[in-house]
Amino acid sequence: MKFDVSSILKLDGAQLPIEINQVIEGLDTISDEVSFELPVSFKGTILNIGGVLNLKGEFNATYKTVCSRCLKGIEAEMSIDVREDFFEEGKSEEEAYTYTGKYVELEKVFRDNIVLNLPTKQVCSKQCKGLCPDCGTNLNEKTCDCKDDEIDSRLEVLKNYFKNQEDN
Ligand SMILES: [Zn+2]
Ligand SMILES: [Zn+2]
Repeated sequence: MKFDVSSILKLDGAQLPIEINQVIEGLDTISDEVSFELPVSFKGTILNIGGVLNLKGEFNATYKTVCSRCLKGIEAEMSIDVREDFFEEGKSEEEAYTYTGKYVELEKVFRDNIVLNLPTKQVCSKQCKGLCPDCGTNLNEKTCDCKDDEIDSRLEVLKNYFKNQEDN
């Protein structure tokens, strides 16, 4: 996704407002667990500081993902303070963002910022009880008997332990 910066390129100190509100298809390949099918927004400025273009603003997105405990589909929001520099191609270290001609490429900037800020685990609610690891029952909706069995078997082990102690 290219943004035309030609109006500030030749003028040190010149600044351009940026306001974006659209679906960026490339964001959807960030991870299998998240989907950015809704429009994302960015509002900020891009400033020419001696030929380096400084992008500054706030990125907001609503994305779809699944609860890491119960696997229910959920929507989550992210808001990121973005500050990045673009160097003219050939005039920077390898890792930097670059611009060629009169455009900066914003998709990679957004993508990288999302990856850095994406929580590794999302839950539908803090109280989510998740799925039973044994039978797969959604414990938010009903209960199962697995847990009791587990405690019983642990007690059984303890009982045997004490029994053995007595025997010795
Ligand atoms: Zn959940
Ligand atoms: Zn169970």
